[in-house]
Order: sequence, then C-alpha cells, then structure tokens
Amino acid sequence: MSECLFCKIIAKTIPSKVIYEDEDIFVFHDINPCAEVHFLLIPKLHLTNMLELQNDQLHILLMGKLMVKANQLAIELGLANGYKTLVNTGVNGGQEVYHLHIHVFGNK
Ligand code: AMP
Ligand code: ZN
Repeated sequence: MSECLFCKIIAKTIPSKVIYEDEDIFVFHDINPCAEVHFLLIPKLHLTNMLELQNDQLHILLMGKLMVKANQLAIELGLANGYKTLVNTGVNGGQEVYHLHIHVFGNK
C-alpha cells in the first residue's frame, strides 16, 4: 500500500469529500479551503509533481483532462465569474503533499 496521502484518498482508505472520479482522475474538496470553493484535482497515476512530467501521450492526456475538468467543475460549483488555479511544485514551489495536484479556488 502506498504511503502517499492522496493515493490513500483515491483508494478511499482515507475519506474525502469527492466531487468527481473517473478511470484517470479524482477530484475532491480541499480539507482547509482558502476560499468559498476550493477543490483539488489529481491523476490516479502517482506522479510526485510536475517535475516528473514527460513528453509522452499519457502525461499529455492526463494534464489535459485535469485542466478541462477543472474548468467544468469550477463552473458547476459556482465559479463562472472566474477562479484561480495553482500547482505547487517541489520544495521551492511550496509543495506539501507529494502527489501532483491542481488547486482550483474562488469566491462565488
Ligand atoms: P500543496 O501540496 O501545498 O499544494 O497543498 C496540499 C493541499 O492539500 C493543502 O491545500 C491541504 O489543505 C490539502 N490537504 C491535505 N490533506 C488533505 C486531505 N486529507 N483532504 C483534502 N485536502 C487535503
Ligand atoms: Zn500518490
């Protein structure tokens, strides 16, 4: 079993407030929201962060899917007037959880 917190959330051994899930990606509310709406999108494939991304079809597909779903869910959750996205990467990027994730947050 992976020691990764977000892999455990995907496996549902740690509970989360799930927003969306398919075969490739998982989306859930941030436990410590910094705005009225704050959710995280993650690939089910464990990638540590964007420093691991390669120019291959799987990574390109996953990142595209995550961004398109980010926008769709932001609109559905009331952020049609706009929102912020954030991807913290590595030590110098202030990353705390080492499973690649995209933050989406904003006020309605
Ligand atoms: P960062 O790695 O700095 O981009 O941020 C990690 C984010 O994960 C923070 O916004 C945390 O509030 C969030 N987080 C940590 N643990 C959980 C959890 N169990 N469920 C949901 N979000 C979490
Ligand atoms: Zn993981």
